[in-house]
Amino acid sequence: MFARRAGLLLLLCGLNAQAGWYQYERDQMGTRVAMEIESTTRAHADQCADKVFAEIDRIERLMSSYIPDSELSTVNRLAGTDTIAISAELASLVEKSLQFSRLTRGAFDISYASVGYFYDFRARQQPSSTQLKQSLPLVDYRSIKLDNNQISFEQQGMRINLGGIAKGYAVDRAVSQLQQCGITNALISAGGDSRILGDRGDRPWITGIQHPRKQDAYALRIPLSDTALSTSGDYERFFISKGERIHHIINPQTGRPASGSWSSTVIGPDATTTDAMSTALFVLGAEDGIKMINSLPELDAIIIDGNGKIHYSSGLAPPGEANQ
Ligand code: ADP
Ligand code: MG
Repeated sequence: MFARRAGLLLLLCGLNAQAGWYQYERDQMGTRVAMEIESTTRAHADQCADKVFAEIDRIERLMSSYIPDSELSTVNRLAGTDTIAISAELASLVEKSLQFSRLTRGAFDISYASVGYFYDFRARQQPSSTQLKQSLPLVDYRSIKLDNNQISFEQQGMRINLGGIAKGYAVDRAVSQLQQCGITNALISAGGDSRILGDRGDRPWITGIQHPRKQDAYALRIPLSDTALSTSGDYERFFISKGERIHHIINPQTGRPASGSWSSTVIGPDATTTDAMSTALFVLGAEDGIKMINSLPELDAIIIDGNGKIHYSSGLAPPGEANQ
């Protein structure tokens, strides 16, 4: 009897020893996806992590512009000349993108890709002045016609790219997977887009915001629970040409990399929103960007301008360690 009890006790201790935080990482969507989840056992955590990675793979196959037969690539091939039927999921993310375009008066615009297509940051390529002149009129979200999961472009040669919103969407889908799996506390990030589910076990997560000019250093740290956070920066993908930083966030009005900010961070309820809005705020710059966020009660923002000055939306009291 005693032996059996002792055995049961050992078994319980063994199970208990497995309860805790588990970490996972994988390269997906052209970035590093990282996840920390609290679970009762390693086996359960592994199972949930597998579901998340499979879901992100699925989204990438649907929405990547690098995959020639993704649904997005098919749209770019055909929608300039035909009206084509697309999945409800892609239609819904394009519709959301259009809403963010209207909200930000075109600062966020997935048709930036009509020009963006000519940039290749690894190959240090940018559009020639002729290419820029010809393709800039194609950047206009109002020329994307979406109706009942049917899409067409009003102008031939137009392209769309979901690089400014799809990672946030993937993070939100990942959180749904974790919730369905019974997880209540987790942190998941895909590059600059992250979401916190619950907390770090009765404590908030202390989230660092990358210093835009110092590698592996934080500009500031903030405590967060149950929220999404996205940062867009000119330090992610860029090259320097003739003293100019040619980076991956494009001002739809000029077709050139947006200037005026080093980084923008948006905090809000879901990562789809914070992803799109952090890209938009980078384009808008500190003054207009903070003004816009102050009119949206669910969102907060931190913008580091081109002089390294940190600007906060009205919902955020500047933490003592800013400017360090
Ligand atoms: P990342 O997390 O990849 O650094 P961001 O959220 O900062 O991305 O957004 C930058 C990406 O968004 C670019 O790589 C490009 O795919 C896309 N993009 C660039 N400019 C715009 C724009 N004005 N509107 C919408 N998307 C954009
Ligand atoms: Mg973004």
